[in-house]
Amino acid sequence: MFLENQVALVTGASQGIGRAIALALARAGARIAANYYPDQIDRARQVVDEIKSSGSECIMVGADVSNKVDVEAMIAQVLEHFGSLDILVNNAGITRDQLLLRMRDEDWHSVLNTNLTGVFYCSRAALKPMLKNRWGRIINIASVVGITGNAGQANYAAAKAGVIGFTKSLAREVASRGITVNAVAPGYIETEMTGKVSDRAKEQFLKNIPLGRPGRPEDVAGVVVFLASHSADYITGQTIHVDGGMVL
Ligand code: NAP
Repeated sequence: MFLENQVALVTGASQGIGRAIALALARAGARIAANYYPDQIDRARQVVDEIKSSGSECIMVGADVSNKVDVEAMIAQVLEHFGSLDILVNNAGITRDQLLLRMRDEDWHSVLNTNLTGVFYCSRAALKPMLKNRWGRIINIASVVGITGNAGQANYAAAKAGVIGFTKSLAREVASRGITVNAVAPGYIETEMTGKVSDRAKEQFLKNIPLGRPGRPEDVAGVVVFLASHSADYITGQTIHVDGGMVL
């Protein structure tokens, strides 16, 4: 239980990678604040019940991460309940794929607002208690697409490349205060998000994965737990690929 008594906030924890991260952090002993998008309370409740039934402490905190007022209220709720915030995992994300000429303004803005501005709002609000404690961990879920680019995902790739640049800059800003900031870049992970991908595209992805299988949410969660732990004390500003060797 190496994360015992640590308080961890995971955004987008109601399913997929966020759910696996919340469960894994709880198994490592952390007390969990599981964020969910406000109109998806039922799925979030299942995750919270699962964590609580394993004996860990967990609260549900609804907030749209792209909404500053929501985010500040969410951090206040976490601090009111637990008294501190040690680990922030910026996981919430969406896709609105389209070739650029057909991309609507709203597809661009909603992806940038959720996947990049959301990381800014959550990190800025979470930093205050971390600076006070002179300890903290911020872990951002980026994507290999932020490194390689991908046709039909200019909005998503721009946001994820932005997350990687944000991670490096913030890591430099807060290193002297005992706070590390790292990113995890998943490749092709089987979740609802990738469930929309056509069978042909899936086949293509698989051909490019040397380890020969799609990733599981738990593959990403394991690296997040490592980055949150003392074993990663000397790692900051990094982007760790969890992609089965897809991007070498
Ligand atoms: P997912 O199954 O679609 O889950 C995304 C989660 O984010 C959902 O719980 C969703 O809540 C939540 N969310 C979306 N917008 C939100 C908002 N504005 N405020 C709060 N929560 C919000 O996707 P996933 O595959 O687990 O992806 C998780 C993260 O990994 C994302 O950042 C994604 O870009 C990244 N990633 C995934 C893959 C992959 O292959 N799956 C690869 C690289 C990177 P609702 O469903 O309730 O809206």
